[in-house]
Amino acid sequence: MRLILLGAPGAGKGTQSKNISEKYGIMHVSTGDILREEVKKNTELGIKASKYMQEGTLVPDDLVIEIIRNVLSSASSRKGFLMDGFPRTLNQAEKFDGMLKNLGLSIDKVVNIIVSEETLVKRLTGRRVCHSCNNICSISMFKDGQAKKCPVCGGKLFKRKDDEEEVIRQRFHVYEKQTRPLIKYYKKNGLIEDVDGSGSEKEVTERILSAL
Ligand code: AMP
Repeated sequence: MRLILLGAPGAGKGTQSKNISEKYGIMHVSTGDILREEVKKNTELGIKASKYMQEGTLVPDDLVIEIIRNVLSSASSRKGFLMDGFPRTLNQAEKFDGMLKNLGLSIDKVVNIIVSEETLVKRLTGRRVCHSCNNICSISMFKDGQAKKCPVCGGKLFKRKDDEEEVIRQRFHVYEKQTRPLIKYYKKNGLIEDVDGSGSEKEVTERILSAL
């Protein structure tokens, strides 16, 4: 199974990608997670990518496409994959199609998670991520609103720098301009499944599974 998850920032792509990839035993490929790891390790790629990430704009296509080229050449991607946060531009989508074609592969489905803007902002400002296991949670899960420890592994939770309000606005703008056109692109190929992303994590997972 080879899948792509589309949706605005905060639509729940990361959380749902984990659930869906586990269910199908396929590789979860989050370009955002890969890039954040590179920034943490201060690699050449991380240094190049970090300024774009901090300001909420997109990392140049050639850097991201190189990451995907490496992913596709890895043994763990053979059983299938779920792309989370890639592609994000028409150019990335076209290059990705070309790479898959050369490998004799194709995408099975593109899931487009739809959530209202009000919910997106609420989710992003309340989002916390675990330093150790990358688990994503919300401050609304914690009684006193003070999310400190990851409920999965006990690791330290942090707020992503790009989840500050000003950067969120920029990320929405980038999404509308550069990523939303992908919906039309994949609609033309008849691959899109729109899924309502409101409600609980479990409800959305069930909707996605029944759409697949
Ligand atoms: P995400 O975790 O998917 O929200 O990504 C966080 C940030 O990483 C984005 O705001 C971009 O700066 C960068 N990024 C992740 N995926 C891509 C991509 N496919 N193309 C360009 N930049 C990306």
